[in-house]
Amino acid sequence: MNRRNLLAAAAAALVAGASPVAAQTYPTRPITMIIPFAAGGPTDVVARIVAESMSRNLGQAIVIENVSGAGGTTGSTRLTTQAADGYSIMIGHTGTHAASVALYPNLRYHPVNDFAPIGLVNTNAILITAKNALPANNLAEFVAWLKANERNANNAHAGIGSVSHTTCLLLNSIIGVNPQTVPYRGTGPAMNDLVAGQVDYLCDQVVNVAPQVRAGTIKAFAVAQQQRNPALPNVPTTVEAGLPGYQVVVWNAMLAPKGTPEAVVTRLNEALRAALADPNVKSRLAELGADLPTDVQATPAGLRAFLESEIARWTPVIKAAGVTATN
Ligand code: ASP
Repeated sequence: MNRRNLLAAAAAALVAGASPVAAQTYPTRPITMIIPFAAGGPTDVVARIVAESMSRNLGQAIVIENVSGAGGTTGSTRLTTQAADGYSIMIGHTGTHAASVALYPNLRYHPVNDFAPIGLVNTNAILITAKNALPANNLAEFVAWLKANERNANNAHAGIGSVSHTTCLLLNSIIGVNPQTVPYRGTGPAMNDLVAGQVDYLCDQVVNVAPQVRAGTIKAFAVAQQQRNPALPNVPTTVEAGLPGYQVVVWNAMLAPKGTPEAVVTRLNEALRAALADPNVKSRLAELGADLPTDVQATPAGLRAFLESEIARWTPVIKAAGVTATN
C-alpha cells in the first residue's frame, strides 16, 4: 500500500467508525421540534405529550418551536433548511405532508424526498363543530342552516392546506355550499374564536374538540368515521347523522431533514415507539380521542410508504376541488 492509499484507507476507517460512535453518543444536546401550527392546537398538544416522554428516553430536552403560517408549509420548509444532524425534527400532518403537494404549485419541498421519515405518531378523527349560539342541534339542522345562510356563514380554518381547511372543503363540496372562510395560524386560535362565537363552524381534529365538547363550550354534530369515537361517545357518526359520504381521518408524522444519518433516525424512532408504548402517553392520547399508528406505520420505512399513499390519495381530491394556494 503506498502512502496515498494508506491515507485513503485510514480516512475510510475513520468515516466508517464515525457513525456508530455518533449514534452511541447522540443526542448530546437539546433537540428542536418544529410544530408548523400555533401553540395549543391539535398538532402542538400531541407533540408536547409525545416529546415529553421521548425526551426522557433520549436523556435530552426536546424544545418545541411553533413556526406557523401558510397552512403549516412555512414550518415544514424551515425544517428542510436545518442541519441534518438529528437536532432538528418536526411533526407534520395530512396537510403539510400530503395535501400540500396538489395545493401549492410553488411548494418548496417534497414531503417524502426532502425529509427522513421517523414514524407515524397518531391518527385523529375529524368532527363537524359549531359555535353554541348556532341555531342547529344536529347535523341535518346544521346542513339546512348552512344552505340557507351560505353567504354569511363563517368557516374557520388553520390556513390553506391545513386539515381543517381541506376537510371542511370536502364537507362544503358534499353539502354544495361555498361559505366565507376565516384563516388562522392553527386551530388552537380558531377554536378560541369558535368558543367566543366569533366564527360559525370548524372541521377539527378530535384532540382539539373533545375537551371543548366535554366542557360544553361548542357543539359537535358528527364524527366523520364509521365508528363513534370513545372520547366522545355521545357524538353520532356521519353515517348515523345522515351524511355517510363524509368520511375522513387525518394523522401526525414525525420527520427529520433529508440526509439525517440512519443511526440517528433509528434512535429517534426507538424513542418515538417507546413514547407510544408509555402508559401515560397512551392514556393521555386516549382521553383526547387520538388513535395510535400500526407497528408498521410507526417505522421509518412504513411512514415513507404511508406518506406516498396519502399523497396519491389526496392529490385527486384537491384537484377535483379546483383549489390552489400560494406560499
Ligand atoms: N393541525 C393544525 C393545528 O395544529 C390544524 C389544522 O391543520 O387544521 O393547529
